[in-house]
Amino acid sequence: MWVTEAILGRIFPSKCTACGEIIGKYRGSNALCPNCREKWELNKRARCKICGMEVSDCLCGEGDMYLSGIRDHLKLVFYDGVGGVTGALIYSLKSGRKRSATQFIASECTHRLNEYLSSRDIDPASVLITYPPRTKKEHRSNGGDHSEIVSRAMAESLGCGFIRTLVRRGGVKQRELDFRERKINVENSIFPLDGVSLDGGRVVLVDDVVTSGATMSRAAVLLYRMGAEEVIALSVSRAKSHSTE
Ligand SMILES: [Zn+2]
Ligand SMILES: [Zn+2]
Repeated sequence: MWVTEAILGRIFPSKCTACGEIIGKYRGSNALCPNCREKWELNKRARCKICGMEVSDCLCGEGDMYLSGIRDHLKLVFYDGVGGVTGALIYSLKSGRKRSATQFIASECTHRLNEYLSSRDIDPASVLITYPPRTKKEHRSNGGDHSEIVSRAMAESLGCGFIRTLVRRGGVKQRELDFRERKINVENSIFPLDGVSLDGGRVVLVDDVVTSGATMSRAAVLLYRMGAEEVIALSVSRAKSHSTE
């Protein structure tokens, strides 16, 4: 296995997801070069305007997230939708073209969730991980659903359950809409998967980017209807309007 990896590494050397520099493994991952990894770590330390905590410790929700009953919203970084290391990682995650970037994000999310659960004395094996599904069109053009891939990887490393709970029928990309339209769009396109009961479970809802919070809110309302006892949200990033910068 190691030999194969070493040979493959010579034929196809890994390139940093953000700057393209050729790299070896750095801190166990070959997604980012040391420089870009440093920038990523700094991004995680930007402070939230609302609670004053570093973003990677902040639990503030967005929009209707509290109303929908989401207990806490965990996130790794702020992101305003353009460029930088976060932009490159998210683009890579969405397009599904770079496995090391997807693995890196999954392991960062797992780390954050683990930390959070241990702060509340919750056994990681007791939670269920799920995700809000993409539109069929996005699914097709990206060759899969990246939030599903990240959720599955997280469940595997935490030793907890992964469960598909929701379906998407029709609807358009949230990015093309304003906040009010986003809410209507998700209400008309995200539905419960037939026959799933969450039966008092504690569910972690995983997504990439939270902007208006409409997708997470709609998903949480449905998860509670399906019997969840508690819904916790986790996203890779959140709109930058809440950072102190
Ligand atoms: Zn780099
Ligand atoms: Zn906060």
